[in-house]
This record gives sequence, C-alpha cells and structure tokens, in this order.
Amino acid sequence: MPIEEEDTRKVQTAVAGSPGADRPVYLPMDAASYDHFIREYPSRDFYCGTLLGGCGKKLSARKYRDKKCHFAHVVSGQCRRVSTNEASADHLYIGRALAAWMKKQKYKNVQVRYRQRGQSLRELVDISYTRGGSPRRHLMRVQLARRSKTEWERSDTELHGQWAGVQWLFGPDSMLANWQVDRQGYAIRIQCRPAGITRVVEVGVQFADAPVEWIPLSRCRMTAYGIHAPALELTPTGLSRLDREPRPSPSRLAEVPPSVSHRAQDVGLSPSGESSLAPVIAPAADLLVRKRRTLERPKPVESHHAQREALAGLVRVPHSILGAPGPSLEQLRAEDDRRGTERVLSLLDRLDQIGDDLHLDQLQKVLREIAFCEEAMWSP
Ligand SMILES: [Zn+2]
Repeated sequence: MPIEEEDTRKVQTAVAGSPGADRPVYLPMDAASYDHFIREYPSRDFYCGTLLGGCGKKLSARKYRDKKCHFAHVVSGQCRRVSTNEASADHLYIGRALAAWMKKQKYKNVQVRYRQRGQSLRELVDISYTRGGSPRRHLMRVQLARRSKTEWERSDTELHGQWAGVQWLFGPDSMLANWQVDRQGYAIRIQCRPAGITRVVEVGVQFADAPVEWIPLSRCRMTAYGIHAPALELTPTGLSRLDREPRPSPSRLAEVPPSVSHRAQDVGLSPSGESSLAPVIAPAADLLVRKRRTLERPKPVESHHAQREALAGLVRVPHSILGAPGPSLEQLRAEDDRRGTERVLSLLDRLDQIGDDLHLDQLQKVLREIAFCEEAMWSP
C-alpha cells in the first residue's frame, strides 16, 4: 500500500520495542499531546505489531495541526491490518494490566494469551495462573468479541472441564454480561478509557438494576470465588452484592409527588441561604443522585435510616444529617447540581451500554431516571 494511502488510515495504535511485542502504544489525535507522547518514547521504536494484526513493519508517529495525529508506515508495502482505531490495542492493555495485577497479588505462573486456535485477535484474552502452591491452573477469560448465549455456555462448559477455576470478564462488545447477571446476580465488566497518552483499564460490576460503576483495577482483588470489587461482598459461600442502601425502584420514583422540590422555601432556608433548625425535607432525587457518592464510604446508621424514611415519604430529617454548620443556599444548589450532573452522566453511560445490548425495558428505565434527575435539579 503506498504511503500516501497509509496516511488516510489514521492508525492510532502501535507496539513499542519489537514487531512481536505486547507493549501497546496509543497516539492521541491532538497535536498538543504529541510532544508529551514523544517525550515518553524518545527512541521512537514503533511497530505495526503482529499482536495487533499488523504487518510488523516500522511505524512513524506523525504530528499534524490540521488533522488527527497518527502513525504511518515508514516504508510502504502490503499491510492487512484491519483495526487501527484508538481501541485497537485494548486487548493488549487489558492483558498486561490483568497480568501485572495478578502478579502483584503474588499469584504464580501468570501467563497471558492473545491468540487461541480458531479465534482472531481481539476476540478474547486469557490469563492463566496458579494459586497457593497448587499446580492446578486457573483461568481468567476476557471475552471481547460478541457471542451468542449458546456459544458462551458451550465455552464455559468446555473451560470448566479444562481448568481448576474459570472467571469471566466481559468487554464492551461481548453482549454476554446480561446472561452472566442472570446466572450469578452480577457480571464483571472491563473496558479501556483514554487518559493522556495511554489507555487506562477499568473494571465494573454489572447488576440488573443499576448503572455500571467503573473503578480502577487496583481497587479489586482476586479471591477463590472470583474478582472482589467494592460493590461485592465476600461471604463464606462466595461473592454477592453488597447491600449499601435502599434503591428506589422506577415505580417508587413515579410515586414521588411533584411537590418534592429543592427550592429554598421547601427546604426551610431563609432567603439569605442561612439554614436554621427548621425541618428539612430530603428530596428523593437527592437520595438517587447521592447514591454514587455514598457507595465508597460507610454511612452512619442514623443517616441511613433517616434517608430510608425520607424516601418513603416526606419526613423530618434531623438537621445534623446535613452537617453543621449548615451549608449556604448556594452551596446546596451547587452540590445538588453537581450530584445531578454526575448521576445523569452515569445514566448516559448506562444508556450507551444498554443501547448496545438492545434491552428496551432497561433503556426505558434509564430514560425515566434521567428525566427525573433533570426535573429534580435546581431551577435558576
Ligand atoms: Zn502494517
């Protein structure tokens, strides 16, 4: 392929070191990040990596101000690489991150495989390991390619026959996580997110009734029962959902009367924004948007109980819940808007993911929640 044509391909990923290396490189598209990128890779030894499905030939990083920065082959020639976008090396980012994470936890004989017989690159990543001095090997399978439920179940049965233990992680496109949720109540998801000149691997736990909350891999650990993320509880019989606080169901949300509002006169604040000992109504929407924030920290029993009551109806919530001294009206507004925005963004993420899976009932549920969040935001 002539080099002029290469330029139009917009190759955003390469490997560094050698043609067969598994060290992925991601070139951000904006010129502003280019210099930072080159400082990180002064030797500029980039290749159209064979683990990316590439030809193995040398690539050069091109800087442009009027179009996206990208890699181009130094010498023109045949290259059959199919996937060149910014996500095209995610299988390598994921494989390396999981292997490093397992080694850090002192698991032994950790090996990553990107190629399997009968499978193309980017369809799956296998990480095998041993634990506790036992020679028996366990497997973590990252399913990236889309598969049917039947195909997945067949693979699962086969793998359980071959390995001492099998853990599934589902990539953004596998469309299988819902089946795993049906089976065990949750599914472990994995994705890459661009962060400067690299791509960060994130893990999330998918439940049937909540958006996936993405967290760094470092906040999880591997156990005998599988990956233990903060959203899960380790019990003597296995991992299960950590019950943190009541979750309003869509029907409950629909029941919240329109009189529930964040306006100052409703929450007992004076026009100056000074809070008093007056009773304060905790709006249900606030509970909803606060959910994400509170997931990471234990909630005092009293506050938890009061919020449960507040959700059930309009009750008097002790002022102490809001903290002392009381926040100003502006602070309350800013905080509520921030939470609302955070919640809506999280719901949009969820929408994106559900949209991929074409689960219309869940789609409608998220749309209802977004509408509710927007309604509950402070009016100017
Ligand atoms: Zn190539």
